[in-house]
Amino acid sequence: STPENWAAADRWLAAALLPHDPELDAAVTAQREAALPEIEVAPVAGKLLHLLARLVGAQRILEIGTLGGYSTIWLARALPAGGTLVTIEAEPAHAGVARGSIDRAGVGDRVDVRVGPALDVLPTLAGPFDLVFIDADKESNTAYLDWAARLGRPGGLVVLDNIGRDGEIVRDDSSDPKVRGTREAIEMLGSDPRFDATALQTVGVKGWDGVAIAILTGEAGTGAV
Ligand code: SAM
Repeated sequence: STPENWAAADRWLAAALLPHDPELDAAVTAQREAALPEIEVAPVAGKLLHLLARLVGAQRILEIGTLGGYSTIWLARALPAGGTLVTIEAEPAHAGVARGSIDRAGVGDRVDVRVGPALDVLPTLAGPFDLVFIDADKESNTAYLDWAARLGRPGGLVVLDNIGRDGEIVRDDSSDPKVRGTREAIEMLGSDPRFDATALQTVGVKGWDGVAIAILTGEAGTGAV
C-alpha cells in the first residue's frame, strides 16, 4: 500500500461512479489556470457532500472556504428549487474564480459568495442552515464549529474536512497549527453536547486525509470555544 496506489484506486472509483462532468472539469481547469492551490475536495468527496446535502434535505447550506468553487458546485446542485448556499472566502482572487465557475455551472442564482475572513462574515449571517461545510483555515476550526452550532438547525449536519493530516492528529505535542486546530476540533466534537459526531480517515488522491461528520443535537453548548 502506497500513496500512489491509494490515488490510483481513488481515480478508478471516480471514473466508475462519477460521469464525465463538463462544469466540474471546467471549474478545476479554471482553478489550475489561475494557479490556485490544488486543495479542493477529491471528486468522490464532492459527491459525498452532494449526497449528504440531499439526505438531510438541505434547503440552506453554509460553506466556509470556497477556493475556486469546486465543492460549492457539488453542494449547490443538491439544492431544491428555491434553495440557497452561502460560501465564504477570504481571498478575493479565489472568490473571483469561484464566481465564474459557479455561474458557468448554472447554479449562480442560488449561490451567494461572501468575500472576507470567515470570522468577520459569520456574525452577519442569519440561520438556520441545514448543512455547514467547514473547509478553511484549520486553526479556526473550533470557532467555525461554534458558529455552525449557532447557525445550524437542530438535526442539521456539520461536515469538517481534512481531519486525517497524515496521521499527525495523534501528536498531542504537535507544533503544526493545522494539526492543533484539527485535534481541538475533534475534541470539541466529542465533548460539546451540541454535536453528535464521528470521523472517518480516508486515503486517495488527497493522501491520508479524512472527514468528520456531526449532527447538531439542539442541546445547549458548554460555552467554551
Ligand atoms: N472547499 C473548497 C473545495 O473543496 O473546493 C476548498 C477550500 S480550500 C481547502 C480553503 C480556502 O479557505 C482557501 O481558498 C482559503 O483562501 C480560504 N480561507 C483561508 N482562511 C480563511 C478565512 N479566515 N476565512 C475565509 N476563507 C479562508
